[in-house]
Amino acid sequence: MKTSVIGFPRVGSLRELKFATERYFRSEITEEELCDTARAIRIDAWKKQKASGIDLIPSGDFSFYDGVLDTAFLFDLIPDRYRQLDVSVLDKYFAAAHGYQGEKGDVKALAMKKWFNTNYHYIVPEIEDDAHMKLVGTKPLDEFSEAKNEGIITKPVICGPFTFLNLARFVGSKDRNDYMDEAASVYTALIKKFGDLGAEWVQFDEPYLVRDLSTDDISFFEGLYKKILSGKGNVKILLQTYFGDIRDIYDAVAALPFNGIGLDFVEGRKTADLIMKNGFPEDRKLFAGVVNGKNIWRNHYDSTLKILKSLKDAGIDTVISTSCSLLHVPYTLENESRLSEGIARHFAYAYEKLDELRELKGLSEGADDEALDRNRRIFDGNRYQADEAVIKRVKSIKEEDYTRKPLFEEREKIQKAEFSLPVFPTTTIGSFPQTKDVKANRTGLSKGTVTEEQYEKFNREKIKRCIRFQEEIGLDVLVHGEYERNDMVEYFGANLEGYLFTEKAWVQSYGTRCVKPPLIWGDVSRKKPITVEWSVYAQSLTDKPVKGMLTGPVTILNWSFPREDISLKEQTQQIALAIRDEVLDLESNGIRIIQIDEAALREKLPLRKSDWYTEYLDWAIPAFKLVHSGVKPSTQIHTHMCYSEFTDIIPAIDNMDADVITFEASRSDLMILDSLKENNFRTEVGPGVYDIHSPRVPSVDEIVEALKKMTEKVDVHKLWVNPDCGLKTRGEAEAERSLNNLVKAASVMRSRYETD
Ligand code: GLN
Ligand code: ZN
Repeated sequence: MKTSVIGFPRVGSLRELKFATERYFRSEITEEELCDTARAIRIDAWKKQKASGIDLIPSGDFSFYDGVLDTAFLFDLIPDRYRQLDVSVLDKYFAAAHGYQGEKGDVKALAMKKWFNTNYHYIVPEIEDDAHMKLVGTKPLDEFSEAKNEGIITKPVICGPFTFLNLARFVGSKDRNDYMDEAASVYTALIKKFGDLGAEWVQFDEPYLVRDLSTDDISFFEGLYKKILSGKGNVKILLQTYFGDIRDIYDAVAALPFNGIGLDFVEGRKTADLIMKNGFPEDRKLFAGVVNGKNIWRNHYDSTLKILKSLKDAGIDTVISTSCSLLHVPYTLENESRLSEGIARHFAYAYEKLDELRELKGLSEGADDEALDRNRRIFDGNRYQADEAVIKRVKSIKEEDYTRKPLFEEREKIQKAEFSLPVFPTTTIGSFPQTKDVKANRTGLSKGTVTEEQYEKFNREKIKRCIRFQEEIGLDVLVHGEYERNDMVEYFGANLEGYLFTEKAWVQSYGTRCVKPPLIWGDVSRKKPITVEWSVYAQSLTDKPVKGMLTGPVTILNWSFPREDISLKEQTQQIALAIRDEVLDLESNGIRIIQIDEAALREKLPLRKSDWYTEYLDWAIPAFKLVHSGVKPSTQIHTHMCYSEFTDIIPAIDNMDADVITFEASRSDLMILDSLKENNFRTEVGPGVYDIHSPRVPSVDEIVEALKKMTEKVDVHKLWVNPDCGLKTRGEAEAERSLNNLVKAASVMRSRYETD
């Protein structure tokens, strides 16, 4: 039996790549120096996996920004506006990833979307009509050779053509069918090159197969792979799927001559069933994804061994694998000095998961009983003390606790009178730039070099400046700037009972941005107010309304590593009650507008439509309502989402019963607005008018144009003006210029609107 890893984290165990890339962006290091850092990270990852006894080690899973974008560049699918830039290939790549504004031009980034049901984001390739797929890049080949030079024959990993073409945006009149032949031929050419270099296996990642598939999808898949597999020569092809089961296409996949099929036993509810009922083709290897690539709890060996044994009994030639790329978990517990041994032993990050793979291999071959004993001891006994009060409070939630009164329409009138805001009211999403001094202040506090008093004083000074600035440029609804928060979820995790802190448990979210999801360890509750003091202070500095800023329960859950011993629903209810207490405290302390961010609401939406409501929305939306149903009619509830793809769940979003929703819109077309109209969306909306993921400063005209388009589709009395998301990752100067332009654009719109 062998072991395989689908993909490995790549930002470096101490985020070395992130820091190097950011320095490169600031021109503090050269391209060569950046590449040196990247190479060191790759080699480290291979050696680590080798030393841990992994048989099939991935290569090509490294990326400077994103693997889907790498694939576009590999095959020359580079939109003209980036190709035209007179800069190096790497800089064209970065321009496509996060925009370019400088001497050589001014281009926006490509759109970015969440990668299936994760908090990782991929860059959406754009395919123009005159684009042709050509194998022009060498990145995965170079990386294979690099590993080979280190004495390691890796398994190259590549984003498969089916997933790639389905995720790409065709900006002209062509569609995926127009690229079937070209795709088949470039992928075949790539396989051949890998073969020439000495690769035994090549892994084609096709997570798109776990979604609902139409008969068209299936025949497109078959068409593509018949061609590719007929030209694969001696190279073995592994079709790797993850994030669910492949029930719609299992038989078609089994009928194709893949050498290996990778299936997810963790999120794939039907995977085991499919294999047992439909059978598994002989002379193929099953790569069984049994070690969870997404959560950080220890693998329960007894359960896993049962699965492996049933596969063996069915005569299936099995490779033990992770359930998905380990990209979605942090590097190693070795970096966690603050978790006690008694607690840490319950967890496995990427490095520790490598050990699990090896131990499971040993155990299924009848060796290593000591590992089994050790594993059993972890799961024996009570892990923690249950909080009976929390459990009781959840049980006593009543139906009416989910409903806010009065109805939306009535509240809207009351609130218009309460706030008398102009048309096109302006606001931001909450955070202001997290400059070096802001971060240093926070780190100082946790290290003990900054006293509690100094910490507060510094933040108050920041808040004061932030409020002054917003007043000066003329924003209507202000924020305090969120200087006390490292991250919208980790901050709440750190202040709630039942959560654990980590130090270095970073996970890549997009490009150079990493998040540190907190761990839910026990029952969650709030012991004392969390944000009230900061918000009250900010409000004391101005007559304009200052929004209280909270993160919603679904997002807190989705961006934490959840427990596996109770349901997600119950964990979310516990969090919702805690945040509800905070909402009511803000209100009773004079905060009249409260934003409850649900940036990640869509993230865990099941990948199959048939599961959307029953498995998720039926408890996720009520959890949000539970948070705000207790406020007065005049208190305005905002919510925010980091994307605009909710066309398909518009009724559910409207049912959250918020008063205003802001969302990302500048990088996507505004089709969402048509759908809002068609669905009689009643919640007021603030579609973001500029992209905050990029340092680019939008002009006044550009924002006016965006707003004009919006007014064609949204009732002006329901329209808000705001950026796409919080400004924490931006520099101060660019954020200030952008906001200035935003306010100016709103006033241009007001004067037009008033003279019309
Ligand atoms: N209020 C948060 C902020 O502005 C929202 C962040 C987010 O949606 N990701 O930072
Ligand atoms: Zn956001």
